[in-house]
Amino acid sequence: MLFSEIVPNVTSLSRISINRKDEYVFLFEIMIFSNIDIEHGLLFRSIYKGEFWKPCPGTTGGYLCCGYQIITPMRGCAMYCRYCVLQAYFDDMRPVVYDNFDDLKNEIITKMEKWHGIVRFGTGEFTDSLCLEEKTGLSTAIAALLEPWPQAIVEFKTKSTVVKPLEKIKRPDKVIIAFSLNTPRIISLMEQGTASLDERFRAAKRCLEMGFNIAFHFDPIFIYKGWEKEYREVVEMIYDAVGKNIKKLAWCSMGGFRANPGLKKYLKEQMRHLQLFSGEMITGADGKLRYFRPIRVEIYRAMQDAFYKFQADAPLYLCMESHEVWEESGMIGKIPEGLPAFLDQRAEAVLSARAR
Ligand code: SF4
Repeated sequence: MLFSEIVPNVTSLSRISINRKDEYVFLFEIMIFSNIDIEHGLLFRSIYKGEFWKPCPGTTGGYLCCGYQIITPMRGCAMYCRYCVLQAYFDDMRPVVYDNFDDLKNEIITKMEKWHGIVRFGTGEFTDSLCLEEKTGLSTAIAALLEPWPQAIVEFKTKSTVVKPLEKIKRPDKVIIAFSLNTPRIISLMEQGTASLDERFRAAKRCLEMGFNIAFHFDPIFIYKGWEKEYREVVEMIYDAVGKNIKKLAWCSMGGFRANPGLKKYLKEQMRHLQLFSGEMITGADGKLRYFRPIRVEIYRAMQDAFYKFQADAPLYLCMESHEVWEESGMIGKIPEGLPAFLDQRAEAVLSARAR
């Protein structure tokens, strides 16, 4: 039986299956067309009956997880990155806003009452956290929801410049605005619909003026002729943008391009972007396609060198990398108590900056 036979007003039902982990299967999602037009299509509305707050499923196979907590107030994206894994997760990756925000709110209040210690939330796992903020107001609402808990910090990841609506957030010191970065070449080739690099840095500066903490993510880093020089130039731009606000830089992550085989299969079926996989890649212990280990190590060594020229103790970490790669790239000394502890300490440092 179709959902449309069970639930009135249902005009479409998407498969919405996620291959990543069983608990991330988006069940009972009822798609209702709304009238809201957005630049790249329709904004859908839906009721979500699963858990809104889940720990990041991380990865299997011994890759180090950062201990992130994911809140999912919507899914899908209004931009179009050629490598976006959401294409493989969802039949239709157009944005869907979950209308039952009160359920999300109640769940978070209930769980936070039992939580001890620092908690690092993010909302950018299944969407871009800010590109539709003018229409949804969801990030602003989530920041307000988390305000009462001094140990809670939330990171909004984006490739957009939609930061003006965030002026309504009363405690910007409890929020990290994180910009995903890449080289101008990769942005123009692979990240259709996103803001340019200069625009992202202008938005980052505006966030600092507004009192937010900021972060940057180099994920995915691609190897191509001239990659090192171009990525080094982007690192230089970070420090130009941050200037004297170095204490507001919460963290910077790095991750070489990797993808689950589902994405390759999907792109093959669509006859699109297969050049992403044209170089030699290995299948990692978690089943994902990755660059060979020596290449990843070379990337991370070069990037560290670029960062440390500007900040000797740059708060760098690797995303979903193996212990061996942490060691071989010379970064293991940064995380003597593990990656989650390192990031918790960084979160504590930015949270306590206001208290002083
Ligand atoms: S901005 Fe993020 S979520 Fe949106 S298409 Fe690009 S990678 Fe996917």
